[in-house]
Amino acid sequence: MIVGDLKPMEEIVAMIGGYRKVLILGCGSCVTVCLSGGEREARQLARELSHPMHYREAPPEVSVGSILRQCERDLVAAYQEIDPGTEAVLSLACGAGVQTLAEAFEPLPILPALNTTFFGASSKPGVWSEVCRGCGDCVLSQTGGICPIARCAKSLFNGPCGGSQNGACEVDPTTPCAWMMICYRLKKQGKLHLLETLSPPRDWQPGGGAGPRERIRTGVGLPQ
Ligand code: SF4
Ligand code: SF4
Repeated sequence: MIVGDLKPMEEIVAMIGGYRKVLILGCGSCVTVCLSGGEREARQLARELSHPMHYREAPPEVSVGSILRQCERDLVAAYQEIDPGTEAVLSLACGAGVQTLAEAFEPLPILPALNTTFFGASSKPGVWSEVCRGCGDCVLSQTGGICPIARCAKSLFNGPCGGSQNGACEVDPTTPCAWMMICYRLKKQGKLHLLETLSPPRDWQPGGGAGPRERIRTGVGLPQ
């Protein structure tokens, strides 16, 4: 899922400070699961942002809503609950959701309440860890299902850097060395021979190095 974190309150207050009426809009998908941008968080944020202590003048009038997935144009278009007089929307979605809203509701300003941070998975209750960078050319079949791009601090492709100490990463000793995990996993799978194949220098174009990416699925949607 996409993981995001609430921006610092001062930054959010500075964004909405000039508006008199603001809709705070949660997103019902990834950011709900990682407890940063769902309807519940939108209501909490509305309570916080209604407090006069944040403003020199009167606080803006805030209302709260939610869309199941702000990154889906159809769901956004079906949302008809923006009160007249609303001057800005504070979105708790990821950057994809914010941009979808900005296009759908143009010229209404859409402001991001979250910093979109990574593609992650829940490692234990309340903790999400980065596991994928959307590189566009997945190598997990070669690495025992452990991503060397997202989980190795140096994104190495041909084994560890040599700085690993007692199984921990030299960049952050609280993090396990990804290549140690890869080696152990491949050993358990009886696939250590995969380490003998040298990975050539990476072509980063499928990972966004050649500009914005687009995927087209044929046979989807209404006939032209
Ligand atoms: S190799 Fe690429 S696609 Fe596969 S998990 Fe890592 S970043 Fe994601
Ligand atoms: S110690 Fe391991 S995880 Fe850390 S940078 Fe080196 S190879 Fe990557």
